[in-house]
Amino acid sequence: MTPEELYEQLKAFEGQQVGQPTLARDPVNQPMIRHWCDAVDDRNPIYTDPDFAARSSHGGIVAPPTMLQAWVMRGLRPPEKPAVATPGPQLRIFQLLDDAGFTSVVATNCTQEYRRYLKPGDHLTVSMEIENVSEEKRTGLGDGHFITQRMLYLDQNGEEVAVMRFRLLKFKPGTGKRAAPKKADKAARPRPKPGITHDSGFFWDGVQEGKLLIQRCLSCQKLRHPPGPMCPNCQSLEWDSVEASGRGTIYSFVVMHHPPIPPFEYPNPIGLIELEEGTRFVSNLVGIDKDDIEVGMSVVCEFMDLENGRKLPVFRPVRD
Ligand code: ZN
Repeated sequence: MTPEELYEQLKAFEGQQVGQPTLARDPVNQPMIRHWCDAVDDRNPIYTDPDFAARSSHGGIVAPPTMLQAWVMRGLRPPEKPAVATPGPQLRIFQLLDDAGFTSVVATNCTQEYRRYLKPGDHLTVSMEIENVSEEKRTGLGDGHFITQRMLYLDQNGEEVAVMRFRLLKFKPGTGKRAAPKKADKAARPRPKPGITHDSGFFWDGVQEGKLLIQRCLSCQKLRHPPGPMCPNCQSLEWDSVEASGRGTIYSFVVMHHPPIPPFEYPNPIGLIELEEGTRFVSNLVGIDKDDIEVGMSVVCEFMDLENGRKLPVFRPVRD
């Protein structure tokens, strides 16, 4: 099949409804709104305080618009779907693309439009259709077709209350720009340069001289790192720096596994170091197996020489 013939077949799916309209399991209700607001830490009283909501322009409680999908979730144990003799358009368009080599899928974007606020008692029905299929596009992930699915949300009176568009890319694996780096690339690729700014220049100058300089507020004497123009403690703009001893302890740490970004070695242990001067510092941990790292370990700073002539402060565990 030529790309043109494929595209013609794909376009025929536009406007086709996917599955049957689904009635939400529950009407819009206050307990679900409250749990959702707790979960996302949305404290707007319009959603949870009946007295406040009654005095507002809404005249009563409304649901957060972005809760839209929560109302029509199928639940963890949806009822068994009856066996269907013919697969629906979503399965068929995926099959068509799979057969043409576009076997990978990724969700790319989702937009929601709200026609009105939902109120307790509203009972939604959602239906879905394939709205648009793009011609073949070249993307960073690979060559593929974008499929836009449109979900239409109606209330109990059949009035449209919201529309959601959900876009997928079905693409050919291995055709993108971001193919996995080869071993040779890894060695050739230098470590990224530090972001040196007007604020952090003194720090990196110190590093080049083998000094770990920590910014100090001239007004309240508090140390701070990373460097910044203003003291977060007293808002003074006056500062100087002190040279840290380089000794500290591991306050916390993570071990990076994925995604592997050249030229870094993986697993890559990163420590949050509490310097003995009292401020904290994030950097690589070296000279220790990832499984032996412990919170509270004593560490000392050393300066690693990079390929580009720069130095980098890293921390090595030491025996107490
Ligand atoms: Zn200060």
